[in-house]
Parts: sequence; C-alpha cells; structure tokens
Amino acid sequence: MNDIMKLFSLEGKTAIVTGANTGLGQGISIALAGAGAKVFGVARRSCTETLEKIKQIGGSFTEIIADLSDVSAIDTILNEVSKTASRVDILVNNAGIIKRCRAENVTYEDWDMVTDINTRMVFFLSQAVAKQWITDEKGGKIINIASMLGYQGGVYVPAYTASKSAVIGITKALANEWAHYNINVNGIAPGYFATNNTAQLRDDAERSEDILSRIPAGRWGTPEDVYGAAIFLASDASAYMHGFTIAVDGGWLAR
Ligand code: NAP
Repeated sequence: MNDIMKLFSLEGKTAIVTGANTGLGQGISIALAGAGAKVFGVARRSCTETLEKIKQIGGSFTEIIADLSDVSAIDTILNEVSKTASRVDILVNNAGIIKRCRAENVTYEDWDMVTDINTRMVFFLSQAVAKQWITDEKGGKIINIASMLGYQGGVYVPAYTASKSAVIGITKALANEWAHYNINVNGIAPGYFATNNTAQLRDDAERSEDILSRIPAGRWGTPEDVYGAAIFLASDASAYMHGFTIAVDGGWLAR
C-alpha cells in the first residue's frame, strides 16, 4: 500500500459503532472493518447478520448488547471494549429512532424517547470516550450521523428534526472544544436511504414517489453509499477536518 492509500487505512484502530445490527450502522461497521478496524457494534438486538458479513471480508466484529435509551449503557460499552482492546480510536454515533406523528399530537414520552437516543446519548457517549482521549493525549475520531432533517424541517417528525439539528450543532460545539486535543468530531448527513428508518415512507406510494422524484441521483441510498464518507472521517485522511457534517444524499441538498 502506498503512503497516500495508507491515509485511509484503519489497521490497528478500534471502533465503536452504535446501531450496528441493521441499515447504515451495519454498512458503516462493514466499511470500517474492511478498512482494517476492530469494530465493536452496539445494538439492542443481536448483530448476527453484521458479524456474518464482516467475517466474509475477513474483518473483526464484536457485538455489545446495550439499550442506548439508558445512560448506564455507556459504562457497559466501555467495559466490554476494554476487555479486548487497549483503547478506542473511533466512535460512530449512528443509532437513532424516528417517530412519525403530526406535531399537534406528539407526546412528552415520544419526544423524550427520540431526543434521548438521537441527541442526549450522542453527547454523553462522545463525552465518555473523549475523556479517555484527553487523558491519554492520543486523539480520536467521532462521527455523528445526522440527517437531511438537520437542515430542513420535514413533516410529521418534529422531535426527529429537533434531534438531528442538535446533532449538527453538537458536532460543531465539540469540535470547537476538542480539536486541539487532536480529536476530530465530524458528521455524516444521509439523504433518503432504503433502511428500516424509511420503511413507512417507502410504503406510502405517493410520499415515496415525491421523494424519489426530488433526488437528483434518481434512487434511494443504500448502506454501501456511506462506506466512503465513513472511512474518510474515521481515518488520517480527514486529520484537518473539524466540526463539519458531510451530506451523502444523492444530491438532495443541491436541489
Ligand atoms: P435502522 O435500520 O432503523 O437503524 C437504527 C439503529 O439504531 C438500529 O441498529 C437500532 O437497533 C438502533 N437503535 C435504536 N434505538 C436503540 C436503542 N435504544 N439502543 C440501542 N440501539 C438502538 O435505520 P438506519 O436508517 O440505519 O438509521 C441509522 C441512523 O441513520 C439513524 O441515526 C438515522 O436517524 C440516520 N438516518 C437515516 C436515514 C435514512 O434514510 N435511512 C436518513 C438520515 C439519517 P434496533 O434494531 O435494536 O432497534
């Protein structure tokens, strides 16, 4: 491998990816493992499929079962990782939920459920990992998964929009405080991807057609479409990037 390609290598790195059992988290886990990282995938349910796919490419993957709606998950995750890895190098805050409901009907419970996982946990898991990095002075990479709804209002998903706008804000705020510790905090804002998150949208023929007709690329994204951005932000190639959220959206924001 030449020196330029080495910039993208994750050999010898350890990564945590939340929400690793399906969709984008599975895709990001495969990408990071394929680039050489030892990946710890967090999910409420087993990550058997992710493990199988990573085995097929000769990568390393360990699942950690934890419920991210509870902050006690942070200790569980870090303890599990410390059993077989000397340090964490990369954290991908990918797990997220969406609840579709007209604004006038949103309950306190649903609002809290969405913002606890999509925003609160993103902040506190980042804080826990960054504390280790600030102490050992070796730096690290945080990648937060935002959304088009970090930029736009959307319809029937006000808590999700609030949470993803906050993710973009947190990404900038943490970059400002931690860049000088050699910690890169950046984000990825996926456009419309064919995963569980959008199943309800894609089942609605009219909404689905509306969305598709507005995507310049003319198709829904697939988890493979985030491989490149994830590897870039996790690797030395993005060493001087701080606080920026990259859209991987088939051109959606360009319209
Ligand atoms: P997904 O398949 O529904 O994945 C969501 C992941 O989050 C699952 O692994 C899920 O695990 C995990 N998760 C949710 N609540 C959790 C909890 N309490 N504890 C632990 N894990 C939890 O959908 P996805 O599209 O891949 O979503 C991944 C991220 O991309 C999310 O942050 C989402 O907002 C974002 N995103 C997606 C799109 C899109 O078009 N698909 C667009 C923009 C942003 P379980 O299966 O156990 O629930």
